Amino acid sequence: MRYEGRVYRPPSEAYSLIVQVTIGCAHNKCTFCSMFKDKRFRVRKINEVLEDLQAARQYYRKVERIFLADGDALVLQNKDLLVILREIRKLFPECQRVGIYGSPQDVLRKTEEELAELRENGIGIVYIGAESGSDKVLKDVVKGATRAEIIEAVRKIEASGLQASVTFISGLGGKKDWKEHAIESGTMISEMEPSYVGLLTLITEPLAELHDDIEKGRFELLSPLEVLQETELMLENINVKKTCVFRSNHASNYVSLKGDLPQDKRRMLDQIRNAMKNTDMLKDERFRML
Ligand code: SF4
Repeated sequence: MRYEGRVYRPPSEAYSLIVQVTIGCAHNKCTFCSMFKDKRFRVRKINEVLEDLQAARQYYRKVERIFLADGDALVLQNKDLLVILREIRKLFPECQRVGIYGSPQDVLRKTEEELAELRENGIGIVYIGAESGSDKVLKDVVKGATRAEIIEAVRKIEASGLQASVTFISGLGGKKDWKEHAIESGTMISEMEPSYVGLLTLITEPLAELHDDIEKGRFELLSPLEVLQETELMLENINVKKTCVFRSNHASNYVSLKGDLPQDKRRMLDQIRNAMKNTDMLKDERFRML
């Protein structure tokens, strides 16, 4: 296998075979994100990807999950993705699910039939970063997508029979916009009803523009207690009818939460409120990481 630069994958793809289909992220402008700042975006040659899959087959006896990286591999046209997916089927008949990152624009460019075609050929889950439900916050962080576009993209993924795993970031509104960020993110989840929601907590690295804003005092980070208040308000505003697996158990989070919404909402709210009273339960700043 050949990997170029640092390779990122969602926490739930920890045991997957990672294959780089693109290098970097086609957008690469989000101010909080430094993941691909050192990479110039390009689509890899399909033959190189196929060679990597063949090499992996020689090396691994059992591959049940494959993740197509980098930032938004869904940017590829369906005809190219289908060549890769068919090779995966041929080489790894035991593979149960292929996952992929996609931006809202990548999803919106595809028809529902094209998304269904990807599902029929092995894609099971699309990871998509919403980050916030607030249009103001999305604009401030240069997400390149509006609340309405993200909602439409997630609904489209779910309507095509794929699962959407949507990421939000606690603290992304800073002290100024935390309430709007919490309420609008909660109502957005209610409106789009994704299969999974992952809630991280903001941590920036020096290459991210937001890091400089924090250092220079232009953006005020929430305290750990304020992060919990924000999560409480976000959860209070989530009212889904279809089961949504909610996870806030990433290395960046102060408190680890995991449950199925709507049924576990009360339990998770109690957990947050207990942590707000017993701050000893919060993860030490030294142990938080991206
Ligand atoms: S958050 Fe996602 S879309 Fe934004 S720059 Fe990073 S990888 Fe690209």
